[in-house]
Amino acid sequence: RIVLNERPETNITPTTFRTERVPFSELKPKENEVIVQLLYLSLDPAMRGWLKDQRSYVPPVQIDEVMRGFGLGRVVEKGSNSQLEVGTVVTGVIGWRDYAVLPEKALTKIKVPQGVQALDFLNTLGLTGMTAYFGLKEIGKLQKGETLVVSGAAGAVGALACQLGKRTGAKVFAIAGSQAKCDWLEKELGVDRAFNYKSPTFKEDFKELGYLDVYFDNVGGEILDMCLGRLNRGARVALCGAISAYNSAKPEGIRGYLSLISQRAMIQGFIVFDYQDRYPEAIAEIAEGLRDGSIKSKFHIVDGLENAPTALPMLFSGGNTGKLVVKVSDE
Ligand code: NDP
Repeated sequence: RIVLNERPETNITPTTFRTERVPFSELKPKENEVIVQLLYLSLDPAMRGWLKDQRSYVPPVQIDEVMRGFGLGRVVEKGSNSQLEVGTVVTGVIGWRDYAVLPEKALTKIKVPQGVQALDFLNTLGLTGMTAYFGLKEIGKLQKGETLVVSGAAGAVGALACQLGKRTGAKVFAIAGSQAKCDWLEKELGVDRAFNYKSPTFKEDFKELGYLDVYFDNVGGEILDMCLGRLNRGARVALCGAISAYNSAKPEGIRGYLSLISQRAMIQGFIVFDYQDRYPEAIAEIAEGLRDGSIKSKFHIVDGLENAPTALPMLFSGGNTGKLVVKVSDE
């Protein structure tokens, strides 16, 4: 088994993990437990986050603990009462170890649909696939005819997001880190255009896409900022991941963004004019508050139109308390 040896400051190094050997005879499944042999281990960017001692959507992996990992495995021994038969192929958080004793309820028996392989449950039919599918449909709310941009597009989640985007009938633009990846995205996956973010002409090339309706963000950082600068009105941004920052020693500037993801939080821009039809509803409620004293209205009144030019900067120096107005003449 492979355990966490020390928390990396930035990049994962040879001393981040260490290998331990445990005799198989020590593995004893109790009631409703099984021994699972790991067949394939999924490696995911999220693992970098689990190495950090910080609040997230799951607790960090502790030092000396077996490294957490999702995998495909086979039941090789069962404890009493276990419903999982020996030989059953399962997925679950098996960890970085050849064999694991786990409660059977922590495992999912997979039903492999015709025409696909069990290994697909670590990719398109597993958490990777579900991430692309729900990120695009539920958060991105992608519609036919819209423009989708996917970063990290040649990766596991990104490549599926691109393909699901094409299946929805969207125009799909992909961003990836090499010309070979871009060729694959265009020629094999059928995206409309793929941009190599490592190309010196990337920023210029990227303008070709015009504006976008859905941005599926896997990388964060500068690419996120570029995409945010090209949003259409009412665009949706699916905050899936920010791999460009996972190894960063400095959390400033990214901590808040990662928290949006882990806390499933939402940021949405709005412009007041969109609610014109509902102004009367708001006026009625606020006026009631003003009448009964539960809402206070404070003004900061500057006398004389000639003082408007010097009064305006007060807003930026904090010179006003309450609503700044200029009294121009008596009512
Ligand atoms: P990938 O298969 O996409 O592998 C990572 C890829 O990211 C690399 O191949 C690399 O491709 C790209 N990358 C690495 N560093 C950078 C960088 N600095 N800037 C831009 N791109 C970079 O991994 P996954 O598909 O498994 O994960 C993709 C994203 O989805 C991750 O951010 C992950 O955390 C997130 N995720 C989120 C989930 C959720 O529930 N919200 C669930 C699962 C994954 P390139 O050559 O293009 O640089």
